[in-house]
Amino acid sequence: MTRVLTTTSAAPASSPPGALFNIIGASDDDVRKALIERGVPDKQTRMRAAQLTRWLYVQGATDFDAMTNISKEMRTLLKSDFSIERPEIVDEQISSDGTRKWLLRLAPSARTVNAPEIETVYIPEPGRGTLCISSQIGCTLNCTFCHTGTQKLVRNLTSQEIVGQIMLARDRLGDWPNAEASGDQSHLPRTERKITNIVLMGMGEPLYNFDNVKTAMDLASDGDGLSISRRRITLSTSGVVPEIGRWGEESGTMLAISLHAVRDDLRDEIVPINRKYPIAELLEACRNYPGLSNARRITFEYVMLKGVNDSLAEARKLVALLAGIPAKINLIPFNPWPGSPYECSDWAQIEKFADIVNRAGYASPIRTPRGRDIMAACGQLKSESLRQRASVSKLESAEAPV
Ligand code: SAH
Ligand code: SF4
Repeated sequence: MTRVLTTTSAAPASSPPGALFNIIGASDDDVRKALIERGVPDKQTRMRAAQLTRWLYVQGATDFDAMTNISKEMRTLLKSDFSIERPEIVDEQISSDGTRKWLLRLAPSARTVNAPEIETVYIPEPGRGTLCISSQIGCTLNCTFCHTGTQKLVRNLTSQEIVGQIMLARDRLGDWPNAEASGDQSHLPRTERKITNIVLMGMGEPLYNFDNVKTAMDLASDGDGLSISRRRITLSTSGVVPEIGRWGEESGTMLAISLHAVRDDLRDEIVPINRKYPIAELLEACRNYPGLSNARRITFEYVMLKGVNDSLAEARKLVALLAGIPAKINLIPFNPWPGSPYECSDWAQIEKFADIVNRAGYASPIRTPRGRDIMAACGQLKSESLRQRASVSKLESAEAPV
């Protein structure tokens, strides 16, 4: 593991909310509104917003002065009233397998003095690079095997903070025209773009932050901007049934479901949202997911917990349950974290389980663990410093959940 960059400053570099209008991650309409409020003639704003989109999301500009086709006068206004800051990096770690993890510090909200932190992970593979992004600070749901679930939710991320994670990762990976990457580059994919896919599988339940995640994914997939196809963006949910269909209709991204159990009594325990939306209702919402087809399958995630959900009878029940739904199955070896109440299933058991899934027609169902030496794997994401500073979480727990 390499620790590439660590800052120790106590105060966040980003401005307190409301000071400057952060363009990164703001919708086109909001950018235009902000320009109008600052005296830019309405008829000019479409052109200005398009110029900004190109500079920020295609070129990766980090400075208004680089925007040479924007008049000096306009640049002066941009510099005085707008920001294009990314979240501040507190720590960057690179795993021996090339996986990178960033701990990011966000601006404190009005009611807190401490700046909250989130994590973002990049996973390079030979023909692709996947960025795993967070949608909330902590999570209100308490899945028993998930480290994030033990952290009290501080708040939803803004669309700026969600898109900021993509921008920051592209900065560090040198994923802009003519840019240089930081750190060891030997694992980076030899694709034109280093980030080819996005998964909303970091901290938080994205469907509990629907609007901001939607704005952010609209920007991520904008063909004139970041240009990551909606078919390469996957939202993972623990099963917020009423929002699943609406997400499909309004966003058109791929979907992953954290299933993890095939019986309601067990799922009630390990994925407690199941008490509200049981398996049958969840699968019904999946069957009705807009655009579902053999070319656009839903991924069902199943974490392998030793002696809990990993019997072969459960493997057979799993394939029976999913019959008729265009699906992929992803068996995730459980990633333990300090104090976690489970063990990962034995490898031999995972293989036997996978065999049954395989014979039912699902290809390569086991997800290879990545970035274990830097605790970058699924469900392990929880800010290191929050873990260390219990006083911070106490302070912030006073804040009402969203
Ligand atoms: N809240 C969303 C997305 C974030 S979690 C959801 O639950 O789907 C992303 C994935 O990691 C989910 O499938 C989650 O169940 C899984 N996960 C959580 N903790 C894990 C752990 N310790 N080991 C392996 N997978 C885990
Ligand atoms: Fe929240 Fe997902 Fe973790 Fe469950 S698995 S606690 S929904 S982040």
